[in-house]
Amino acid sequence: MSDRNDDLKIARILQEAHVIAVVGASTNWKRPSFFVLKYLLEQGYDVIPVNPKEAGNSILGQTVVASLTDIHRPVDMVDVFRRSEECPEIAKDAVAIGAKFLWLQQKVISNEAREIAEAGGLEVVMDICPKIEHSRLNGLLGVHGFDSRVLTSRRRKVMPPKPAPRDAGLSHSKHIETLSIHAGTAPDPVSGARVTPIYQNTSFVFDDAEHASGLFNLQLPGNIYGRLSNPTTAALEQRIAALEGGVGSTCCSSGHAAQMIALLPLMEPGRKIVASTRLYGGTITQFSKTFERFGWSAIFVDTDDKVAVEKAVSDPDVRLVFAESLANPGGVVSDIAMLAEIAHDGGVPLVIDSTMATPALCRPIDHGADIVVHSTTKFLSGHGNAMGGAVVDSGLFDWAKGRGFPALAEPEPAYHGITFSETFGPLAYTNYNHAVGLRDLGPTMAPMNAFLTLTGMETLALRMRAHVEHAMQVAGFLNQHAKVLEVSYAGLPGSRWHDMAGKYMPLGPGSVFTFNIDGGFEEGCRLVANCNLFSHLANIGDTRSLILHPASTTHRQLSDEQRTKAGIADNMLRVSIGLEHPEDLMNDLQAALAAI
Ligand code: PLP
Repeated sequence: MSDRNDDLKIARILQEAHVIAVVGASTNWKRPSFFVLKYLLEQGYDVIPVNPKEAGNSILGQTVVASLTDIHRPVDMVDVFRRSEECPEIAKDAVAIGAKFLWLQQKVISNEAREIAEAGGLEVVMDICPKIEHSRLNGLLGVHGFDSRVLTSRRRKVMPPKPAPRDAGLSHSKHIETLSIHAGTAPDPVSGARVTPIYQNTSFVFDDAEHASGLFNLQLPGNIYGRLSNPTTAALEQRIAALEGGVGSTCCSSGHAAQMIALLPLMEPGRKIVASTRLYGGTITQFSKTFERFGWSAIFVDTDDKVAVEKAVSDPDVRLVFAESLANPGGVVSDIAMLAEIAHDGGVPLVIDSTMATPALCRPIDHGADIVVHSTTKFLSGHGNAMGGAVVDSGLFDWAKGRGFPALAEPEPAYHGITFSETFGPLAYTNYNHAVGLRDLGPTMAPMNAFLTLTGMETLALRMRAHVEHAMQVAGFLNQHAKVLEVSYAGLPGSRWHDMAGKYMPLGPGSVFTFNIDGGFEEGCRLVANCNLFSHLANIGDTRSLILHPASTTHRQLSDEQRTKAGIADNMLRVSIGLEHPEDLMNDLQAALAAI
């Protein structure tokens, strides 16, 4: 079992260990052991490479010894890059040389070695990587956002010369109110500024050629060029990952850009997406028209129909299942756990667009989703002033074991043949999204938008509670109105999705819903024109209340069949209920309905 979740133990070991023997250290700079060795040296550790085939040679200036017992000075930690079955013998040597810690790398698992080492007085961690854990716990601003879950008001040192995982300041919070304000945003290490500054930069200075090569080879975390990463955006990435319970995230220029970046590592020409019929209209167009030109295709299914989803996933070309936690529009709630089970049985990940729910109402990863995408344009930023998107990875999907994900599980030619899943473990997908997705496709979030989204997110929990409360009142009012035939809001008792909403979003199913009026296309257009307080525009998730007639706007590009499948009728209106007083909202709708 991986020791990945015991942050305090890991942080203490990384702080107490000074001399580290790396067993299985390679002279080949593309091997993960070389990456780890380089990183540990960079962080100020004293590293001794151990490898019988290279004995006497040197790796990064450190002389290689043949075995642990050839080291004639104190060793604190033994880090092992060998096959699991070789570990018991290595554990015996680690005990013999008086090491304090035995650390088995990712996928190196040996309970026998653990028993031997523990009986000899060593502490053991297995199946994780010290490079990943050290950078994660330090919250280094890397090529990806880390889920440091570290909350602190103290000023950070700039690049600590010694390993200093901030275990003393580690205070975890399960509370979204706290995480929304603090996750990812310790005081600025350079200026002490309490609010994360806008790093309005295109590029970042290298210490020297060695540092530059470490960054370009992805051996060291850090910023190179703004298309790949930026410190303000990295803070937002950490915050979103922390809120969703993921290991990392990648922010993009829009929600649609995030969907493209999310799918790039999973898809190849000829591969297919199993997608819900009830997706946001723009996503249906993106999947069925534009992605088709990449050679990707979508099989649209009713994701409530278990048998239909199973049948679709059984197509060997399928590489992912895609649904919305709360569908836009219509207040439809997906059975995330059921979809996750079907996807995982088929060896593919479940990708959930959770734009309408936000982590304040639902955390898809808790229910089995592997990847979560957001249009941060909506409720996350929350004020209608910043386009953006995010891709969050749970870090739990095993890319090497799945149905076939060569981008992640086979050597990447653009990075000298490194294999992302081998080199970066749980951060493989997030690192790929930055190092390849953003680098080559370029839909990067602007630092200013990251700043606006960070600020907006500070009030996420408060806002979402108010959005839901106001939506309940307005939906109840419309439900009683003589000119309204139907209200589709999962918050209303009697709605088809009410129980599912109770299961997945107990605080309430957001504030976007649809209603059908007594009339048709013309009346729908007229109602919108009659509103004064509601703004007529194609967005959701603003502090302002918004109204839209999907048949004449967002869904007009769909075929009649697609529109019917997506549940869009000519007499249907969509509203996104904002934070104005509900009485004013109901008065506006009352007047507009009276005039149609
Ligand atoms: N997903 C959902 C559920 C949306 O509502 C939208 C936009 O309305 C998107 C994705 C696309 O996001 P963006 O407009 O930020 O590209």
